[in-house]
Amino acid sequence: MAEAKTDNLVTNGSVEKTLSVCAATRRLLASAELRRTVRIALSGFVAGFLLLVISGQLKTMAGEIVAIWVTDGYLLGHTMVLARRHKPVFLFGASIGLLLANLMGDETLYVAFSFTFAGLVETGFATVILPGVKTARELVQPKAFLRFVIGACIVAPALSGVIAVLLLEGIFTSHPFSSFSNWVISDSLGLLIFTPVTLVMLSGEWRSLLKRGNRAKSASLLALVVVVTVLIFSQTSYPSLYWMLPPLALLAFHAELSTVLLGTLLFIVISVPLTVRGTGPLWLFAFPTMQERVLALQVFTVAALSIVLPITVLQTQRNALLALLADGHRRFRQLAEHSEEVVVQLSADGLFQYVSPRATTVLGYEPDMLLGRNILDLVHADDCHQLNSAITWASTAYAEESVQYRVRRADNTYIWVRSFVAAMPAGVPDERAALAFTVMNIDAYVLSEQRRSAEEQKLRDLAFIDSLTGLRNRRYLDSKVNELSQSPSAGVDVRHVAVLFADIDYFKSYNDRYGHQAGDECLRKVGKRIEGTMREADVLARYGGEEFVILLDGCQYAEAVDAAERIRVNIEGLAIAHEGSPLGVVTLSIGVAHANVGMTTSPSQLLEVADSALYEAKRLGRNRVCHKHSVNSVTG
Ligand code: GH3
Ligand code: MG
Ligand code: MG
Repeated sequence: MAEAKTDNLVTNGSVEKTLSVCAATRRLLASAELRRTVRIALSGFVAGFLLLVISGQLKTMAGEIVAIWVTDGYLLGHTMVLARRHKPVFLFGASIGLLLANLMGDETLYVAFSFTFAGLVETGFATVILPGVKTARELVQPKAFLRFVIGACIVAPALSGVIAVLLLEGIFTSHPFSSFSNWVISDSLGLLIFTPVTLVMLSGEWRSLLKRGNRAKSASLLALVVVVTVLIFSQTSYPSLYWMLPPLALLAFHAELSTVLLGTLLFIVISVPLTVRGTGPLWLFAFPTMQERVLALQVFTVAALSIVLPITVLQTQRNALLALLADGHRRFRQLAEHSEEVVVQLSADGLFQYVSPRATTVLGYEPDMLLGRNILDLVHADDCHQLNSAITWASTAYAEESVQYRVRRADNTYIWVRSFVAAMPAGVPDERAALAFTVMNIDAYVLSEQRRSAEEQKLRDLAFIDSLTGLRNRRYLDSKVNELSQSPSAGVDVRHVAVLFADIDYFKSYNDRYGHQAGDECLRKVGKRIEGTMREADVLARYGGEEFVILLDGCQYAEAVDAAERIRVNIEGLAIAHEGSPLGVVTLSIGVAHANVGMTTSPSQLLEVADSALYEAKRLGRNRVCHKHSVNSVTG
C-alpha cells in the first residue's frame, strides 16, 4: 500500500514535470509571438505619429494647403505587406500614433479622435478590399489595379471625407465643400502614389529598379520630368500645362510603376511650391483663392495619372508577356538543340520549316540545306508510302504517329530512323496542321535486330534438321502436325490429309552384318530417294531410327496409297544389298492413313493410325503398303 503511494507520487512527479515543460514551451512561443505583435504595433505607432507630424509640417509650409497626403498611402502599403493577423495590430498602433500627433498639434480630443477615426476607416476599408496583394507587381494586375483605383483611391477617401465632414461639421471648416474636395483629392493622390511606392520599398522590389540598365534610363526620364516641370512652373507667360503630358507619358512607356509614381511625385513637389509662390500656368486663370488654384493642380495630376497609369499597367503586362514568350522560345531552343533527336517542324505537305542543329550529326545536312525541301525526297523509295500516309494522317486527323523508315544521309548512305509525328493545330478550322516531327537514328538498333532475328531463324532451322540425313526431324513434324490441328479450317472445312509411316525392314540385321557406318549410309540413301519421289508441298521427316514419316496435305486417299507404293518400289529399286533380309535387298514397309481432318480425326490421331497400318504391313510379311481410310478398314 505504502509502495503504491510512492509509485503514484513518482508518476505524478513526472507528469507534473512534463506539464511544466509544456507550459514553459507554450510561454516561450507565446512570448515570441507576443514580441512580434508588440513590435508590429510599435512600428504602426511610430509610422502613424511621424507621418502625421511630417504631413502637418508640409501643410504649414504650403500655407495650410495639402496638395498630397502621405500618411494614408504609406499606412495602406505597410498594412498590405503584413500577414493577415498582423494587419489590425499595425493599424491599431498607427491609430494611437495618429491620435497622439493630432493631440500634440493643439487639437481637442474630439477633433483628434474624429480625424484619426476618419483616417482609420479609409485605410481599413482599402486594406479589406485588397486582401492578397503584397507587391507592386501584384497591384498592377488589371483586376487588383481596378480595385485599388476605384476602391482604395476613390471610395475610401470619399468615405473618410464624409465621416470627417459629419463629425467635424462647423469645426472642420467654414467652407465645407472646398475642404471635403481637398481632403478627398489629396488623400486620393497620396494613396495612388505612396501605396505602390511603399509596396516597392517594403517588398524588396526596389532592387530591380537599381539594375544597371534600368538605373540610367529611369534617371534620365525623371530628370526630363524635373526639367519640364521647372520650365513650365517658373514662368507665367504661357498656359503650357499640357506640355507636362509628353514627359509623363514617355515615363509610362519606358519605366516601371514605382518610377512613374516617383516622377508624378516630383512633379507635385516642384509644381505646388512654385504655384504657391506665385509662378506657373495656373496664375493665368483667375482663381478666387489659393486653395482652389492648388485644387486645380491636383485635378490635373489626377487626370494625368488617369492617362499614365493605364499605359504603365498595359506596358507591364506586355513586358511580362514578352518575357514569357522569350523564355518559352529560349527553353524550346534549348530543348531542341540539346535533344538526341533532330527536332523538325514540317508543313502539312512535308516541307522542312525548322530543323534543329542535331541534323548535322544525325543526317549530315546543315539545317539550312533542308529548309524548304520535302522530307519525302530523302526517304527510301520502299518507305515513302508509309511515311507519307503517317504525315497525311497526322495533319488531317490531328493524330500522333510513330513511323520507322530509311532516310538518305548527305553522304548518300541510308540509315534507319524512327520519327514521331504530331499535329500542331493552328486554330484555323478545316486547315491541315503543320507537324512537330522528330528524327531519331535507330540504324544500329535495327541492323542488330535484323542480325539477331536472322540468327534466331538459323537456329530454329537447325533445331528442325536431322543431322544424319539432312532431312527434317521429328520435332519439325510434330510442329507441322500441331499447326495443321490448329489451322483455322480445322473443324469447319473438309481437309484431306494423309500420313505415310515408312520403316526399313530387318534393319537391325543390316547393322549387324554391315556395321553401323554402313547402316548410316543406307539411311541417308533411303531418305534421299524418298525425298526424290515427293511433291514440293509434302513434308518428309526422319521420325526416329530407321523410320520416316511423310505428311501429304490436300491429298486424296487413292493418291496417298499410290505415293506410298511409288516410294516402296523406288527403295526396292535402289537394290541396296541386304543379305540379312529374306528379300536380299533393302526394302520398306509403309503404313498409310488418310482422313478428312476436322470431320473425323486429328493429324496426331492419323499418325497413330498410320503406325498401326505399318505394324500390319510388317505382320503380313514386310516390303508392302498397308492403308487405312479413316480409322476403320485396313487393306494390304
Ligand atoms: P523390322 O523389319 O521389324 O522393322 O525389324 P528391324 O530390325 O528393322 O527393327 P528394330 O526396331 O528391331 O531395329 C531397328 C534398328 O535400327 C535398331 C538399330 O540398330 C537401328 N538404328 C536405329 N537408329 C539408327 C541409326 O541412326 N543408325 C544406324 N546405323 N542404325 C540405327
Ligand atoms: Mg525396321
Ligand atoms: Mg523400326
